[in-house]
Amino acid sequence: MQTPRSLGAALDILARDPGIWRPFAGGTDLMVLLEAGKLAHRHYLNIWNLAELRGIESASWLISLGALTTYTDVRRNATLVREFPLLCRAAAETGGVATQNRGTLGGNIANASPAADTPPALLIYDAELELLSSRGSRRIPYRGFHGGYKKMDLRPDELVGRIFLPRGRTGWKSYYRKVGTRRAQAISKVCFAGAVRFDGKIVDDIRIAIGSVAPAVVCATQTEAYVRGKSLDAAAIAAARQVFAKEIAPIDDIRSTAHYRHVVALNLLEEFLTTTAAQ
Ligand SMILES: Cc1cc2nc3c(=O)[nH]c(=O)nc-3n(C[C@H](O)[C@H](O)[C@H](O)COP(=O)(O)OP(=O)(O)OC[C@H]3O[C@@H](n4cnc5c(N)ncnc54)[C@H](O)[C@@H]3O)c2cc1C
Repeated sequence: MQTPRSLGAALDILARDPGIWRPFAGGTDLMVLLEAGKLAHRHYLNIWNLAELRGIESASWLISLGALTTYTDVRRNATLVREFPLLCRAAAETGGVATQNRGTLGGNIANASPAADTPPALLIYDAELELLSSRGSRRIPYRGFHGGYKKMDLRPDELVGRIFLPRGRTGWKSYYRKVGTRRAQAISKVCFAGAVRFDGKIVDDIRIAIGSVAPAVVCATQTEAYVRGKSLDAAAIAAARQVFAKEIAPIDDIRSTAHYRHVVALNLLEEFLTTTAAQ
């Protein structure tokens, strides 16, 4: 394990031997894999002490969160609690206190699990990522970052540096449900986040993001497009269920069956649309 003293030193190490070094943030995912003997021996780059990757900063138009922001940091930040409740709900339902104190947003993103709990909220809020390397930085929409199971738009010499959340969302109603074996300490069987804005009774805009129903956490863009511009009566909600049913493709794994996930995901969509339309 190498512990660089600065971000620049960390990026230089990654650039020298791309692919050799594995960033090690809170270690809550990596330690489980190491313990289970599922990680081949590699060189680990301890980024936990890099101050440049910490801090939650507010500008008038966005919030900038360092990749090392923990779930506890998220839960304690008054601006996030007020303006980004779905992210705070996801943080509150991730693991127990020890995991929340140590697990980071950057780690949750770069671990690229289809069952991760913060990605649906980050998708709903149109998050952007800043990726850093010794060559410079690039800023990309989080939507599209995960291209398949454990695949992402992150090069071997890059670190996730910061996560940006655009502010100024008004009039949105939101919904979040994590379905797991237990309320915390359990990885999701299905994780659903949604937000909708009405113009009178008509859906003006909508976001639906869901984990554990595809090889990566996904936005249900076809369902979003179907629902936009509609009044959410029983017939529209039933038709939205059908569009959603064709859009998702859950898998069987050790945590659940594809059938169970399919049924739960459809029920969560219906609950989201029904409850927000009635509020
Ligand atoms: C008991 C327990 C319960 C858990 N419960 C949940 C849960 O309910 N929901 C959930 O989503 N997760 C859960 N997790 C998984 C884990 O806690 C989270 O995914 C956490 O956010 C990982 O962050 P970390 O900093 O510990 O990542 P690490 O373990 O340090 O790293 C994870 C991966 O990300 C890479 N990485 C980390 N930071 C960066 C960076 N800045 N740039 C590039 N790559 C990086 C690492 O190289 C590694 O591949 C749980 C884990 C445990 C042990």
